[in-house]
Amino acid sequence: MAHLALEHVTKVFEDGEDEIVAVDDVSVEIRDGEFLVLVGPSGCGKSTTLRMIAGLETITDGEIRLGETVLNDVRTQDRDIAMVFQSYALYPHLTARRNMSFGLEESTDLADTDIDERVTEVASMMGISDLLDRKPGQLSGGQQQRVALGRAIVRDPEVFLMDEPLSNLDAKLRAEMRTELQQLQEQLGVTTVYVTHDQTEAMTMADRIAVMNDGRLQQVGPPLELYHAPENLFVAEFIGEPSMNFLSGRREGSSFVTDRIEYPFTETIADAVGDAEDVILGVRPEDVEILAAGDGSDPAREFEMTATVVEPMGNENVVHLEFPGETTGTEDLVAITEGLREIEENESVTVHLPEETIHVFDTATGEALH
Ligand code: ATP
Repeated sequence: MAHLALEHVTKVFEDGEDEIVAVDDVSVEIRDGEFLVLVGPSGCGKSTTLRMIAGLETITDGEIRLGETVLNDVRTQDRDIAMVFQSYALYPHLTARRNMSFGLEESTDLADTDIDERVTEVASMMGISDLLDRKPGQLSGGQQQRVALGRAIVRDPEVFLMDEPLSNLDAKLRAEMRTELQQLQEQLGVTTVYVTHDQTEAMTMADRIAVMNDGRLQQVGPPLELYHAPENLFVAEFIGEPSMNFLSGRREGSSFVTDRIEYPFTETIADAVGDAEDVILGVRPEDVEILAAGDGSDPAREFEMTATVVEPMGNENVVHLEFPGETTGTEDLVAITEGLREIEENESVTVHLPEETIHVFDTATGEALH
């Protein structure tokens, strides 16, 4: 049985005459000890979902359960859940030690010495033992975040909820904390729901990622499953950086056709596409192959293109490519190639779109056909 379960959870905010459906019929089961990362564009309902789990927001419809217990009407302080915010939310007038112990003193009948022992132990785990007598104003952002995490860990909760906890840190510290936090979560084995805007955080930290858009859950799965087998256009576009390329066109017979290219489907893809007519072809920039002269072996899926912009990124290049013909003003494909292969701007190149890397979506519904 799922440790934390959301069943048909909906949140409607009343705003004068208007109703805002912030979370729309979300169902997801989070396993004991699992690290679930919730991602999606701004305003899609991530924070509201987290706040309903925490009890900071009422649930309009549906049910949230922790183990066997229905949480809907359980008060925040009685849920065995600790939340870590982007803003740290430390008490400025209390020392780091008191910030960490305060919640325990209020909510448990543990003896002071036991609380002290726990704070000392967690502080050592977090590498902040030397900072315990300082107040938040005397700590760096990274140190404050450690205290905020420490405060959550000290409570030894069943669930951690984290809302962009690393987003106020600089890039280097953020990368360090990412690894540390992930190791810590694994070591503690506490079920975690983690909200972020950051692709790298989602891809590297998650056991599973849940993608939301417009209040609705789009897909839940391990990072690589979402990357390789997105179930719809939204997930395909949202996961992966730079984003997947999309070409709009139609199916004619067993080919994909636009005004400028024809791309033959394999039998498997043609079967999957069926008789859908308006379709979108998707291919990831890292799957677009720029061939050396004479290297092609799949002519029907090779195209002459012009490299319009080449962005050297160190170990790789991001190459913007256009099909010949009337220019659309935007590149038609983006490719990522190894940095060692030099491509000049305005160079003509042969581009291969390998059949095994192709995605096909139904234009009308956005659903993945293949
Ligand atoms: P972000 O990534 O920007 O934090 P989010 O995905 O966390 O966004 P939410 O904060 O959950 O999104 O908001 C979801 C929707 O609900 C938004 O349209 C938002 O404007 C609306 N909303 C959130 N809180 C309230 C509220 N208290 N009253 C009315 N509408 C609200």
